[in-house]
Order: sequence, then C-alpha cells, then structure tokens
Amino acid sequence: MADYKDLAELIFPNITETLEDLEKKYPVRNLPEGAMVTRFAPSPTGFLHTGSLFTSLVSARFAKQSGGVFYIRLEDTDTKREIEGSGESLVKQLAVFDVIPDEGYISDSKEVGAYGPYKQSDRSSIYDTVIKYLISIGRAYPCFATQEELAELRKSQEANKEIPGYYGKYAIYRDYPVDKAIERIKNGDKYIIRFKSMGDHNNKVSFHDEIRGDLELTQNDQDIVIRKGDGLPTYHFAHLCDDHFMHTTVVTRGEEWLPSLPIHLELFDTMGFERPKYAHFPVIMKVENGNRRKLSKRKDSEAATSYFLEKGYPKYGFIEYLLTIANSNYEEWRNANLDKSPYDFMLSFEKMSLDGALFDLEKVESISKERMAYRKASDLCEEVLEWANEYDKEFAAKINANKKFFTEILNIEREKDKPRKDYAKYSDIYPIISFFYDDVYDSLDKDNLDFTVQVNKQETKTVDSEAIKGFLNDYMASYNLDVTEEEWFNNLKATAEKYKFTGDRKAYKANPNDYNGQVGDAAGFLRICLACRKNTPNIYYVQKILGKEKVFARINTILAKI
Ligand code: GLU
Repeated sequence: MADYKDLAELIFPNITETLEDLEKKYPVRNLPEGAMVTRFAPSPTGFLHTGSLFTSLVSARFAKQSGGVFYIRLEDTDTKREIEGSGESLVKQLAVFDVIPDEGYISDSKEVGAYGPYKQSDRSSIYDTVIKYLISIGRAYPCFATQEELAELRKSQEANKEIPGYYGKYAIYRDYPVDKAIERIKNGDKYIIRFKSMGDHNNKVSFHDEIRGDLELTQNDQDIVIRKGDGLPTYHFAHLCDDHFMHTTVVTRGEEWLPSLPIHLELFDTMGFERPKYAHFPVIMKVENGNRRKLSKRKDSEAATSYFLEKGYPKYGFIEYLLTIANSNYEEWRNANLDKSPYDFMLSFEKMSLDGALFDLEKVESISKERMAYRKASDLCEEVLEWANEYDKEFAAKINANKKFFTEILNIEREKDKPRKDYAKYSDIYPIISFFYDDVYDSLDKDNLDFTVQVNKQETKTVDSEAIKGFLNDYMASYNLDVTEEEWFNNLKATAEKYKFTGDRKAYKANPNDYNGQVGDAAGFLRICLACRKNTPNIYYVQKILGKEKVFARINTILAKI
C-alpha cells in the first residue's frame, strides 16, 4: 500500500532539497539582541497606496532604529491582478519617500541580500519543498474538488446554517485514500493542495500582538488551499515560508490580516517554526459625512501617494505627517526637537493607535507649511524646480530663466526667526508669485480692478479716483526704498494720510464717511498696481525685488486705467 511519502514523491519528483537544506541555506541572521527584521511585501498591482507607504515607512523605521534589517519582498502570486513593471515602480516610489530597503527585491533583474529570491514567483521550489514535507507527514493533501462539488458544499452549509468553508466533514478529500489519490494524479486529474487543519472552531488560540496586546481568536479549522492550480502558493502559505526562511522578527502588516492570523499560527506551529511577532497596523481611515471609512483607491485621490507628489507636497512634510499618525507622541517630540531629524524619533508599537488612523489633509497641509517655512530659499528653489520640471513646465521655465530672481522671491520673509507660512505645497507658489514676471503681469485683467474699500463689516464703497491717483503719484514722488521696512511704511502712511486714508482705526470706525479709507486701503491700491490684486507677499520686499523702474511702470499702467 502506498503511503504519504509516495504521494509526496509522486507530486514533487523534482524536489530533492529537504527542510534541513533550506535551514542551512537561510541561517538565523547574525544581528544584535533586539534588532528587528521587518519587511514590506507589496503585490505588484500598480500604484503605491498611502496606507502602504505608511506601513512600509514605519516598518523600515523600526528596523533601522533597532539596528536590524528592512527588506522588500514582491508578492506576485496573484497573476491576474499583476500589472507589468509595477514592482519596480513601487520600489522607486518608496525611495522618493526615503523608504530604502537594506535588502530584497529592487527590480525584475536586481535583488540584494542572501535570503532571496525576494520575488515569490521565483520561490516555487522553496514552497514545494515545504509542501512535499507536509504531504509526507499527512498534513497536506491533494484536493480534487470540482466547482460543482464546492457549490454543493456551500448549499448544504447554508441550508444547515453552518459555518461556510472547507473543513471537517465538509473537507471531502481530506481523508481520501492515498492509493486513489495516486491513481487520479497519474490519470492526469486536476487538483490543488490543501493544508490539513487540526484546529477546532470551538477553541481559542491566544497570541500577543505588539500593538493590540493579548488577544484570543477562534482557532482555524479550515483546510485552506496552500498551492493553487497554477502551482503558486496562496498568501497564507507564502507568508509561512517566506517570513520563516527570511527570518522576519516582526510581521508588520495591515489589520485586515488579523482575521486570518489563526491560520498562520497553526501553520507555524505545525511546521515547528518559531512564530514571528506580529504588529497589525491600523488601517488609514477617512471621515466622510461624519462616517469613518477606509481610504479607498476608487473614491479618494489621496489614497495614491502620487497625488501628493503631483500636488507638490514636500516629501519631508508628508513623511512627518505619517509619523504623527504612527505615534501619538511624535508631534510633541518634534516641537521640542526642531533641530533634529524626524528619524531621531524612536517609534514604539505601544504608541500606535488601535482604531484606525484618521487621514487628515488639513494636517498634511499644516505640517508641510510649517516645514517649508523653515527651508532655506536656495534649497527650496531646487525642490520647487525639480517638482515644476515634472508637473508645471511654465513655472519651471520661469525659474530656469532666472534662478536668482526666483530665490529672492522665495526669500521674502524667510530665513528669519518667525518665517511666513504661505506655502503648503509647491503648487501653491506660482499662483501667489506669478505677477512678478512681466509677461504674466501684462496678461492680467486690468479692466476690472477692485478699487473699493470696506466702510464697516457689511458695506463697501468705491474710492474717489482723484484720491487714488493723488496718493499714487505722491507715493512715486516721495519713493524711497533705501530705508527700513518700518521707515518706508511710515512714509507711506504720511502720504496716505494726505489723501484722507487714515491711520486712526478708531476714528475711521466712528466716522467712516469723513475719510477715503484707511492706510491699509492705500497700501492695497499699491498692491493692485503691482500685482493686480489686493493680496500679495510683503509689499516692501515685492518692490525691492521688482526695482524702482518696474514699480513705477506698473503704477503708471494702472494710473492710466483709473
Ligand atoms: N502582499 C500582501 C498585501 O499586499 C502583504 C501582506 C503582508 O505584509 O504580509 O497586503
């Protein structure tokens, strides 16, 4: 009579390596005590999800801060969902956000490290070695169930109100005689391979999650598929083999994997492999109409990291945002350590939120604004240019034409104690400063300029054009920018007051009709002349950068329109 060993031999005649061979080939890593080995294991399905960036960034930090290893493994066993070339592109996208593996898959023709191959489709012989062993000890078996048989199972389970799936008495090929199985295989019948579970769904399995603490979950009793019809392993089985032989110490993955953990624990225990630690990361959520839901690639453009790159969020701002959602104490630490690198922060599993990290674009903006404000103008110039070269050619051309000019513009109220926080992303810059460029200025609408001022909270009035003209002409007559900002402003104020633009807020409030407006209104007209709008960066510096000649030319252009 044939036995399990014969069956294993029949299915895998070419597998000659043993488990011991594999253990020798992939020895325990020589790392200091406490060093974590973590990984990011993306499927090559097209794009880098914001949630995946979060998971990989944090996993990489845990490895780095503990002196361990962070590696990338490409999980390409779902051939239907695979998008050509996207594995490589994922690695590149990760690198943009500083997530650089110490080891692993780099591209289809390149990998680094001694624990490979790092692409699952290249690891068949490893999976098959383990499966061959499991069959030989009677803990895995070929299953010949047809679609019809499986549908039949489902139907009777529904009718009996029983747990669905392939388990216990419903696992129809679980105790199929070895001789018969051998005959059918020889006959060329189609089959897949299932794991033979010894679990019981009335029992619990306990384990400790690094983030969630001690948990009790229902034991697995399903005879899950471990090798599909195409010869490739399922996620569960690949996880067992890969994380064991690559010596992952902490499996950091999304909480959507928590329900299948009992399967994984049973697999590790059956093989006698040491269980890795697990940290199930919170899923990134979004609030919509008061309800929380998963950040979805179909509904939310911010679910793809490319969104942030296109919009021009500085990567250092976005990375820090992700660190704030990773650890609740990050922000406090950051504010107390502005001179340090974000990577000096020690992440901890204990400080990770449990109930889904909330994605907040406003927070991304405010952190980015904060960080960008402290960039040196020359550094910022390079960053903006790199972005504009890719996403805004017109802007890039302007910068390239005169980098010094653009850097001066960027430097308005920068490189000082309390820099201005105008820009949250590179794409915010050009709309605010494009008026500096003559061709843009020339193309601005000058026939519908707003010469009204606020009388009180509700009312506005149009200012007498003679007063505006008088003020602007007088301003040019007494033009002097070779003084401090404060002196310049005092001079402007004196000129404005001559034309009944008062510096006395209270007096204006009491009797607005006695005045044409306030000093700020007069300064607003100057802004209109220079930029065709009332909001501009600090007008003292705007004039310094434009130079007297252009300032006068622009004032005269507008005077002709009044
Ligand atoms: N390939 C799996 C995924 O795309 C990886 C999960 C894990 O990290 O184990 O979600």
